[in-house]
Amino acid sequence: MTGLVDAHCHLQLVAEREGDGAVAGALERAALAGVEHVVCAGLNLEDSDRCRVIAEAHSGVLFTVGWHPHEPRSPGAAELRALEELLRHPRAVGVGEIGLDRHWRAGYHETPLEVQRVSFRLMLEMARDRSLPAVVHDREAHAEVLAAIDDVPGVRGVMHCMSGDAEHARRCRERGFLISFAGNVTYRGSDVIRAAARSVDAEGYVVETDTPFLSPVPHRGRPNTPAHLVATVAALAELRGRPAAEVAAETGRNAHRLYSLGSTGPLGA
Ligand SMILES: [Zn+2]
Ligand SMILES: [Zn+2]
Repeated sequence: MTGLVDAHCHLQLVAEREGDGAVAGALERAALAGVEHVVCAGLNLEDSDRCRVIAEAHSGVLFTVGWHPHEPRSPGAAELRALEELLRHPRAVGVGEIGLDRHWRAGYHETPLEVQRVSFRLMLEMARDRSLPAVVHDREAHAEVLAAIDDVPGVRGVMHCMSGDAEHARRCRERGFLISFAGNVTYRGSDVIRAAARSVDAEGYVVETDTPFLSPVPHRGRPNTPAHLVATVAALAELRGRPAAEVAAETGRNAHRLYSLGSTGPLGA
């Protein structure tokens, strides 16, 4: 396969856990698997800046600047200015991840919905004002996420790690959002997501790993890595009844359009 784009991953977490050498190795394996670009998604100001460092060190790596719904408070004025400043970087291609998450668990995620709503709104407005795609995290919050998007007319972007059904995918498409499928589309019990993957139009979807999370079958249970994108592409190809090369080409093209990747050089260049 060629021309693959990992539309959403967190190489900065790989760097934190295993060091810079692990990132270089992961990118080499990704290039061998046919991945040409990876988009590293930031979780807050410092984390987004770590994505910048990785993008500067490796061709083919782009990054987004975000404020994740798990962040315990909303960005203040100085932080918003710093986030906007980071967005001026030539390798910055979007605002995210941002969104809403109603999957609370003590010690894992305890941020009240009201705090999340304020953060999401501020960041959606930033995306719209800069004409950059919003990279949206939606966990168990489909209706709330669509309502928040409707409150910021003109914003567009991508629903990362799609977890909704075909009807939800259609509603996202109506709002100019792309659907990003992750490794969970290969899991048992994901029939709803698989139905969404079958239904979405050829211009409407991209594929991601969300590295180091959500390894697709047959890698499930081990940390994810951008090279595993191939397994998710194969699953999507089977679901859609199309050749894997076609899914690779479509998702690559869509990711290029979404993030305006233009002539950015590929991995390993
Ligand atoms: Zn997420
Ligand atoms: Zn993510």
